[in-house]
Amino acid sequence: MKKPLLFIMITLLLSTLSVSFAYVPNGWVLTYPTSCWFYISEDTNSSPYLNDLIYYTKQWNSLPELGLYQTYSPSDHNIAMYVVSYDTGNCALAQHYSDDYHTATFYPSWKNLSLTNRREVIVHEIGHCLGLAHTQSSNNSNSIMRQFNFNGKPYPLSDDKAGISSIY
Ligand SMILES: [Zn+2]
Repeated sequence: MKKPLLFIMITLLLSTLSVSFAYVPNGWVLTYPTSCWFYISEDTNSSPYLNDLIYYTKQWNSLPELGLYQTYSPSDHNIAMYVVSYDTGNCALAQHYSDDYHTATFYPSWKNLSLTNRREVIVHEIGHCLGLAHTQSSNNSNSIMRQFNFNGKPYPLSDDKAGISSIY
């Protein structure tokens, strides 16, 4: 009788530890994560960045739980992306309107980042739209969802994959 109890306690302890040093869900949960439609507002601000916005949003398609597809419908989509010319002091910002509608806005300071960092920010903001908050800082090197600085890897990393897998 004692051994199973010990095993359960160790399992509980390990799962508590892994939660403490890992991804953080933000509570935004798509109803249909394998058919997530993203829309890019196309104008003179976004035109130089269209290819990167599409390609790096789709980096999340390497995860089996997700399917992101571009749509040109301005009224029917799950994620709307905007590149804007006004400055708010932010580099970029993801906003929640409902579980199935989010926006990702990219401000002028985003344009001034290096190419790799700019791409990393795209993946990061889409990560928010898919349900991930900033990861625990101890896990920064394994996550695109680090709050500060960059890994130089513009695609989902192990912590991000574990987080999405736990949400969906
Ligand atoms: Zn963020």
